[in-house]
Amino acid sequence: MKTYLSSSLILFFFVFSLKSNAQGNHVKINPIGFSNVIINDDFWKPKIDKVATKTLQACIYQTEEKTGRIRNFEKAARGKGEKHEGVFYDDSDVFKALEAMAYAIKTNGDNALEKKADEWIDKIAAAQQPDGYLNTYYILTGLQNRWQDMSMHEDYCGGHMIEAAVAYFNATGKRKFLDVAIRWADHFDSLFGPGKKDWVTGHQELELALVKLYKTTNNDRYLKLSDWLLSERGKGLGRGYTWTEWKDTGYVQDLVPVKEQKEITGHAVRAMYLYTGTADVAAYTGDQGYMKAMRTVWEDVVFRNMYITGGIGSAGSNEGFTKDFDLPNEQAYCETCASVGMVFWNQRMNNLTGNAEYIDVLERSLYNGALDGLSLSGDRFFYGNPLASNGKHARKEWFGTACCPSNIARLIASLGDFIYGYADNKIVVNLFVGSQTEFNTPTGKIKFHMQTNYPWSGDIKCSLSMKKNTKSAIAFRIPGWSRGIAAPGNLYSFRDPAKDQPALYINGKVIQYAFQDGYAVIEREWKNGDVIDFNIPMEINKISARNELEVNNERIAIQRGPLVYCVEGADNNGKAWNIISSLDAEYKTEDFNVLDENVVSIVANMPVLKISDDGLGATTTKQKVRAIPYYTWCNRGSNQMQVWLPLTFKDIKVNY
Ligand SMILES: [Zn+2]
Repeated sequence: MKTYLSSSLILFFFVFSLKSNAQGNHVKINPIGFSNVIINDDFWKPKIDKVATKTLQACIYQTEEKTGRIRNFEKAARGKGEKHEGVFYDDSDVFKALEAMAYAIKTNGDNALEKKADEWIDKIAAAQQPDGYLNTYYILTGLQNRWQDMSMHEDYCGGHMIEAAVAYFNATGKRKFLDVAIRWADHFDSLFGPGKKDWVTGHQELELALVKLYKTTNNDRYLKLSDWLLSERGKGLGRGYTWTEWKDTGYVQDLVPVKEQKEITGHAVRAMYLYTGTADVAAYTGDQGYMKAMRTVWEDVVFRNMYITGGIGSAGSNEGFTKDFDLPNEQAYCETCASVGMVFWNQRMNNLTGNAEYIDVLERSLYNGALDGLSLSGDRFFYGNPLASNGKHARKEWFGTACCPSNIARLIASLGDFIYGYADNKIVVNLFVGSQTEFNTPTGKIKFHMQTNYPWSGDIKCSLSMKKNTKSAIAFRIPGWSRGIAAPGNLYSFRDPAKDQPALYINGKVIQYAFQDGYAVIEREWKNGDVIDFNIPMEINKISARNELEVNNERIAIQRGPLVYCVEGADNNGKAWNIISSLDAEYKTEDFNVLDENVVSIVANMPVLKISDDGLGATTTKQKVRAIPYYTWCNRGSNQMQVWLPLTFKDIKVNY
């Protein structure tokens, strides 16, 4: 109780201190921050707890003991002359882990974790140079070389430091780290900007971080600096190894100015962070040039370059995009960080436009492409998230380039950021997660309590409590998949026709509602104890891909609710590439456990190809085939897996 009270006080302090410009003047929806949302959900709460314990412990162990990431700061504080360990961008992993730690500390009040964070922050602060510069690679290898090569991630590491410092300040109220970040940002601002030197960020991230710093400090220099960084792109100003190596490929999204960009190119994570930062700037400036470009690029991503899992960036060679509809399954790169970036960007697009179609995409990436990046045990990770495996993929303890573990950790730890929004006396429910929050409407406070067993069941029940009757609108997102829209633009489409919108009930009585931008909107005077409930039908949907997506011709994928399914050898006699699905196969749900994860699995009798012992002939037999949610695969060792199931023999790979 004591912890709860003190964190509530902190929470109110920040709500009021930041109220003046909390979200930007040009947004249609203001997200409710995670610190104002209490999650008690059966699906997400155990995952949030696992991140706070297992995942962050893994990050701390790897960052501090197994690798030299923290030691680099200790050495940098002592001055030059000692050897830098690891890669030049490794500082960023320390900052991302710190950001995730901040969210976990805010949610769970973990003293040991806070002590560890303070210890790291002391080491980071001690390494900062008198002029505000901070980057262990250049401090240890020669400061005379700093700010020369725009590809060397000095700006990227600085951006992650700002994000972590803002999160830690908001979580604990402690200023030390924030002041370090401010000194760094002021140092950057003293060198670069209008009338000063040019700079094109080599790995975008600083843009969105500067907007966070602006929101926290109210100093609009940081917003202007972010806007200026966006305006530097596409003018041929980029210098450094990525510009030389990846010339003319759009690898760093620097071929044309941001406002003129029409298609998605290059490195997927860089692109996601760029457009997230662009959306953040547009939220304050209302710049229509940015808005128009982002919508066009978004359509290019979602209509032609996104996997059914919400994963993006199909190629490993550039960790990014290739040509339209080039989405191989087994070779899919689909970096965990890129799906995390999709969550960030799509939330911003929803906030700017008020349209739920962006949350449909966010939900797809969150429950599939991103969540797959973390093992059920919480301490093993995927860097890439393929849609088929011949058994050679394995989850790893860590990576040489370790961006993904702390990225999925900070996303899950801040899940509360993505559930609710509010604007113009309208409560917006974007995701279905058992939780509580509170809205300050012009006529009074409404306490909002959502109960659900989503994504396993589509039953949603929301209860309201308030002191006096309050007039307000509530908008519930009705997911596109429940209306026969697999993805806007139909790169993927349902085999079944579109469904009706669900009926909504207030206190047991069905009510009329307006359907607007993907939301069911109810506007009325609410009274204490009102209960709204509805059911989003969780049917098993067979999904097909557009003809242009050739690798998936004559194949189907299975989706139930927001979850994409896969077949894995572990449940199917060790094999997954010998299964032939059919459009009329009768799929049924069956409760199942993947290790300690209770899931709804999908079973059907399907033909399975069997090669004769001499390898010359083949027969088929019908077998009970089980499909599991994609995010749970490869938790029982390496084995075969497939998302897109063939409908004919010709597509069967016999070399399994
Ligand atoms: Zn990554």
